[in-house]
Amino acid sequence: MNNPFIELGIRHDIVNAISELGFEKPTPIQEASIPVLLSGSNDFVGLAQTGTGKTAAFGLPLLELIDFEENHPQALVLCPTRELCLQITSDLSKFAKNIPNAKVVAVYGGASIMDQLRSIKRGVQIVVATPGRMLDIIGRKAIDFSDIRYVVLDEADEMLNMGFQDDIDEILSTTPEEKKTWLFSATMPSEVRRIAKKYMTDPHELTMGKQNTGNANIEHEYYVVRARDKYAAFKRIVDFNPDIFGIVFCRTKIETQEIAEALIKDGYNADALHGDLSQQQRDKVMKRYRERSLQLLIATDVAARGIDVNDVTHVINYSLPDEIENYTHRSGRTARAGKTGVSIAIINSKELGKIRQIERVIGKQFIKAEIPNGFDVCEKQLFSLIHKVHNVTVNEAQIEQYIPRIMDEFADLTKEDLIKRFASLEFNRFLEYYKNAPDLNAPEDARFRERDGASGERFSRGNNGDYTRLFINLGSVDGFGRGELLGYICNNTGIVGRTVGKIDVKGVYSFFEVANADSETVMNAFKTIEYKGRQVRIEVSGDERSEGGRGRSGGGGYNRREGGSGGGFRGNRREGGNGGGYPRRDGGDRNNGGGFRDFSGKRREERSERRNRS
Ligand code: ADP
Ligand code: MG
Repeated sequence: MNNPFIELGIRHDIVNAISELGFEKPTPIQEASIPVLLSGSNDFVGLAQTGTGKTAAFGLPLLELIDFEENHPQALVLCPTRELCLQITSDLSKFAKNIPNAKVVAVYGGASIMDQLRSIKRGVQIVVATPGRMLDIIGRKAIDFSDIRYVVLDEADEMLNMGFQDDIDEILSTTPEEKKTWLFSATMPSEVRRIAKKYMTDPHELTMGKQNTGNANIEHEYYVVRARDKYAAFKRIVDFNPDIFGIVFCRTKIETQEIAEALIKDGYNADALHGDLSQQQRDKVMKRYRERSLQLLIATDVAARGIDVNDVTHVINYSLPDEIENYTHRSGRTARAGKTGVSIAIINSKELGKIRQIERVIGKQFIKAEIPNGFDVCEKQLFSLIHKVHNVTVNEAQIEQYIPRIMDEFADLTKEDLIKRFASLEFNRFLEYYKNAPDLNAPEDARFRERDGASGERFSRGNNGDYTRLFINLGSVDGFGRGELLGYICNNTGIVGRTVGKIDVKGVYSFFEVANADSETVMNAFKTIEYKGRQVRIEVSGDERSEGGRGRSGGGGYNRREGGSGGGFRGNRREGGNGGGYPRRDGGDRNNGGGFRDFSGKRREERSERRNRS
């Protein structure tokens, strides 16, 4: 029997190349779109779930339709980010590797424009570009689009979301009227549909599956936690999945950066991907993630749109996206090419409505999951370790010289003793960290109030005497001295100055004492108060010991991170004496414990920044 791609009309050279990539038969969107696109006679809209092979769905027909004897641009693929631009370029180049003289050039911001201009000058048939840089090159009259026959808009909705519409208009105005425009996306919000109509005349429309439906191979789970416990809960989910290879989505660039930094500080193998990083930083992060030397990629919606990394096990919504459509794009980073995956949302009880909305859009129900307790995590980690030991590759040649001495050392131990000791070596540390681990699942009652400041894995010690010592996440770096802080507290709570005891201003946080009877009032009063856009947090303080482990200042010692975060997570993480990526210090959870700033108001700014940068 013929290869099914041949039957669709794809030539042998290309089929051989994709066979090497493991493409045995076309995916449904490929099967449906390839024949239509090969006719070359229509504009086209292709909507299909994430991870279903849309790149090849337009890429293979493009390679068939282009005349590679000619050395001028015939096809232009526009996409929203440079990561996607590089990925599409790489995919198309692989598909075309047996076609003589086929040239695909990536055009994107943040990298040397001279290199890109040179490649264009040498001759190119397919240009894959982000809009900003493309326009720049057009402005320099460095490219001739008068023979463009096909324009592909990949992840079109995101490009329009990002405010690229004017750029796209301008770019397209330099291409011939008669060209065909193909638009691909996983979702098609109605307002985008209206705008997209503008670029197309009477398009042939293909929707695979129910529109907007999520990938059936993805399990969706949600966890309900108190806002303050979110970071701790998130870490516990990660600890419970020792082999996680995940993408964690945050709402803003700042939150993305903060979470990544906190995780790194806590000994996890994580890094951030967002638009404020330089192109080099972004490339480096993506490379490490693709090579799996990074275990957790913390990303914004924009930065991770469309990226295709194999075998992502979990997508974690640290914050739910502002726009529902983005949930589909996020979760679509897992379960690609027929695999399975889990998409997790960590929410507070007020966000349950959003989960129900998402369920309606993806046509699938979430499973309510429970944050595992400390014991479960310990057990999971222990057996993960045991499996690793069982499966480790022993380097006989290297280890041999030490064996006699090791044997000698262990001579007095039975096999059972040895196993117990060896397992305890790791297990004791987990037990230590998790021994007083509280239940992080939020109670069902949405009106539940956080009252005890000691909900975390952090404090259990009470306060003595008539005063309660409180922690506040404001300090000298925020411009507070003792007097200012006293004024600030009194103004916001209505308590009088003389009832306030000792005030101890530190860098990014402070302590102050209030009469026991007032502590509840103070804590309640600050629940809704923000300082320069940041939620003010008040908590009952423990003793000095807990201060040390507290806070982002890092001033408090406990810096167990010397080992660096590099290296593969499969085992290496442990070597620096960092423990297996679970935090040991008491206050570890505190780094980001409180509510993050809500930057939604800055979205517009972010967008215009993005545009400048693309
Ligand atoms: P989408 O753009 O729809 O999200 P991609 O084009 O990025 O998806 O493809 C997702 C993954 O599926 C890629 O890793 C790609 O190599 C793989 N893939 C695409 N088509 C096939 C096929 N016919 N057979 C096997 N794997 C495929
Ligand atoms: Mg894609």
